[in-house]
Amino acid sequence: MSKYDYSRLNKSNFHNRRKKRRIRAFLLTFVIILILCIIIAGSIFAFKFFSSKKTKNTEEASVKSTTSAEQSSQAREAELEDLLNKADRLALSYDYDKAIELLSTDALKDDPKVAEAIAKYNETKSTLVRQDPEKVPHVFFHSLIVDKSKAFDGDKKQMSYNQVMTTVGEFEKILNILYERGFVLVKIHDVADMVKDESTGEYVMKAQDIMLPPGKTPIVMSQDDVCYYEYMVGDGFASRLVIGEDGRVTTEMDMDDGTSKVGDYDLIPILNKFIDEHPDFSYKGAKAIIALTGYNGIFGYRTAPSYSENPTYEEDKKKATEIANALRADGWEIASHSWGHRHLGKESDEAFKTDCDKWQNEVETLVGETDILIFPFGTDIGSWHPYTDDNARYVYLKNQGFRYFCNVDSSSPYWVQIGKDYMRQGRRNLDGYRMLRDIQEPDNAKLKDLFDANEVYDKDRPNEMGEITS
Ligand SMILES: [Zn+2]
Repeated sequence: MSKYDYSRLNKSNFHNRRKKRRIRAFLLTFVIILILCIIIAGSIFAFKFFSSKKTKNTEEASVKSTTSAEQSSQAREAELEDLLNKADRLALSYDYDKAIELLSTDALKDDPKVAEAIAKYNETKSTLVRQDPEKVPHVFFHSLIVDKSKAFDGDKKQMSYNQVMTTVGEFEKILNILYERGFVLVKIHDVADMVKDESTGEYVMKAQDIMLPPGKTPIVMSQDDVCYYEYMVGDGFASRLVIGEDGRVTTEMDMDDGTSKVGDYDLIPILNKFIDEHPDFSYKGAKAIIALTGYNGIFGYRTAPSYSENPTYEEDKKKATEIANALRADGWEIASHSWGHRHLGKESDEAFKTDCDKWQNEVETLVGETDILIFPFGTDIGSWHPYTDDNARYVYLKNQGFRYFCNVDSSSPYWVQIGKDYMRQGRRNLDGYRMLRDIQEPDNAKLKDLFDANEVYDKDRPNEMGEITS
């Protein structure tokens, strides 16, 4: 290679080195810029990503808190509505005190709606009228006729069914008319009750305050012989009481094909349903008095000792007790109607005591203590004069725990006698005999304060009525 060449070469080498350095610097700058760009872009992206996530979380949290706030306010509204409904149900049955107590002890007591309801109940309370305890009527029925073609089939029992029984249709009409006329069912214990006399420390019978709105009239109801006697089998009546799916007492009827059906076949389920629909027909949840004898067992169960050979005897006694408990829990009261359906005022002393003891030993042991006695045939153990301790039968019954004594008196709308340690009440039969008499003797109609017999009397009843002998 020449010098020149060499120099050229050197010169060219020099140029090449400078060029390479510039390229390297350029590349380095480019890489640095690129890295910086990546870092900046990454940071922006990361910032955007995290900040958006954060917003989303915040949004989610706020949606969540709105939902739970909505839910808790909805729950509160539901709770409030439930509380006000419960109070309303109590007020509908004239138990304003309990309604006010329920509201004023609840956690929601400061809600304006609660305060408004309390004020409304207090206002209604101030308009209530105390009912005269000596002017409370008492009406009674026997088992209701479900199948008229069977009860009125021309056999020898037809006439007595026609006299002393009421059909399901008649009973339903009576309930509707009584309700429309402002009658309200009360318990006999609402009329008068045993209370402690503070001066003597003794318990005495005292008239109670039945408080009802103006225009309402208290009335006691009872049903006799709720035993579904053997003689009634196949005559178109319910067969027994049972506990329904809802835990309340209802009726069962044996059908021709050998099956049994649960349904509204007697007074208990019909009245329950009526009061469910018209709670203002019942004062503080009162229902009727169920009066029982013992000789054929009770409620359609053969619980008397004479049936002890029946394979279901023990089971039947258990069922009868369950039914009595369920009845009491649902506002019904239970009464003695003597063990053998006896004229308690006419029997010999010995027969009287034997019968009373049998009821205590065979029936009260199943249904629990009761203080109500409903005289069979209405045969009282004394005249209309007040009972005194000179009356041995009264003392005997008093020692067995009886305080309420009911005879039959259809001559006046009501008859109540409140003694020192008892209450007596006359009862009115609302049966075929009484209704027909009212229809035949309109000038002497005895039921007109309750209903017009022409509107109720079942046209399918046979003409044969006869005279009531007892
Ligand atoms: Zn009877």
